[in-house]
Amino acid sequence: MPRRSSSDLKSFLAELVDRYPGQPEFLQAVDDVVTEVWPLVEDTKAYRDNEILRRIVEPDRIVSFRVVWQDDRGRPRVERGWRVQHSNAIGPYKGGLRFSPNLTEGVLKFLAFEQTFKNSLTGLPLGGAKGGATFAPRGKSDAEVMRFCQSFMTELHRYIGPNEDVPAGDMGVGAREIGYLFGQYKRLANRFEGALTGKGLSYGGSEVRSEATGWGTVFFLKAVLERADDGLKDKTVSISGAGNVALHAAQKAVEEGAKVVTLSDSEGLLHAPDGFDPELLERVMTQKLERRGPLSAVAEGSKTLEFHKGRTPWGVECDIALPCATQNELDGDDAKKLLQGGVRYVIEGANMPCTPDAVAAFRKAKIGFGPAKAANAGGVAVSGLEMAQNSARLSWDEARLTSQLEDIMVEIHDRCVADGEDRNGHVDYVRGANIAGFRKVADAMVAQGVV
Ligand code: NDP
Repeated sequence: MPRRSSSDLKSFLAELVDRYPGQPEFLQAVDDVVTEVWPLVEDTKAYRDNEILRRIVEPDRIVSFRVVWQDDRGRPRVERGWRVQHSNAIGPYKGGLRFSPNLTEGVLKFLAFEQTFKNSLTGLPLGGAKGGATFAPRGKSDAEVMRFCQSFMTELHRYIGPNEDVPAGDMGVGAREIGYLFGQYKRLANRFEGALTGKGLSYGGSEVRSEATGWGTVFFLKAVLERADDGLKDKTVSISGAGNVALHAAQKAVEEGAKVVTLSDSEGLLHAPDGFDPELLERVMTQKLERRGPLSAVAEGSKTLEFHKGRTPWGVECDIALPCATQNELDGDDAKKLLQGGVRYVIEGANMPCTPDAVAAFRKAKIGFGPAKAANAGGVAVSGLEMAQNSARLSWDEARLTSQLEDIMVEIHDRCVADGEDRNGHVDYVRGANIAGFRKVADAMVAQGVV
């Protein structure tokens, strides 16, 4: 098959825009990966002959289903549920479940596509998937959440299993939801097996799984800093979000001696000009992760905290920014503000939190920019270790898992450097992550033939 040119790249992407016009997030994620790996594909005959790019942008399978559940008044309520199984080229499908009222198939396709390359970067044998439903856990009673999870799993259980597809949590799906989902899976399958990760410690869960994404993001940041002969101590860090990822990233950054000055939620910004100390972070964790209440309540009556409704952290000066809330939460204007304020490192804890304009600005400024598929892979990495513990019927301790997580994040960092370093020693982590993540999946696809 002949080589293709950059005009072929444009028409390749344009064809996808025509085919999936209502899926902007998916198209954005594909554009990011395909643009970066295009030269590698051009140079590799086996990838061209096997049409790897055309195949990798189409998920293996999308299951879409109706979920009916009963609210506390006995009224039937209807949601849509999905599982996008993107690729099992290098291992069983693996990726989180998201419960969010605005969820769409396009968002899940973007997340599953990204997950495939992220999982490849971890070095573990994990394929890529993502799923979820239009259900909003906020404001629902525990009984309602349980009934929804049971109904959702009644359909999903047909498509998952420890060697087939292993979901975990994501936005809106925490320990409580995983517990209810696992209970219903076990009842339907009549087997106790690791078909989900993020489980509670008393029933097959792993130490460090809840902390893994946030801690892993900070371990990745530390590796980036170390390569630049820099360190985290006394750095000012702005974090967005106040969920699982944001709060564990904040916890680890503070432990490493950084001054974390912001957190945020969907209502606004919590600014702590003097920094969050461990005790204050504990309070925020109780409020957001246990009580599921608003962040603004933490600032009530406080002399050191300010809550700004409707604002994001990106106007606050910092050395390091960690966007950890949601996709496309940091745009080109925000990037400009951060750069003017002297930001030197931006590491993505959330999935695709920076818009293409923002990413372009950071890459142009040549600051240390860590893309999500590398920087937030710690969660899925410890999920992979949870699967290994379940298969071996063993539980490893916290110290062992923390050190394995740190090792994996350093290895991911080094894979990005190997494929992203230029002649002057500057590392483009976006390029490095995309190429290293893609190559392993593409090689597996070539080896397995036209399937
Ligand atoms: P959570 O549901 O625990 O927390 C999400 C946080 O983001 C909440 O504080 C939420 O606010 C806030 N938020 C949501 N939308 C907005 C918005 N538009 N503007 C400002 N804040 C917003 O989710 P996670 O922490 O688990 O996930 C966060 C990100 O990390 C997602 O992109 C997810 O895909 C990614 N990720 C998560 C992993 C995990 O292990 N959990 C693994 C890898 C990636 P509020 O409380 O008001 O809703």
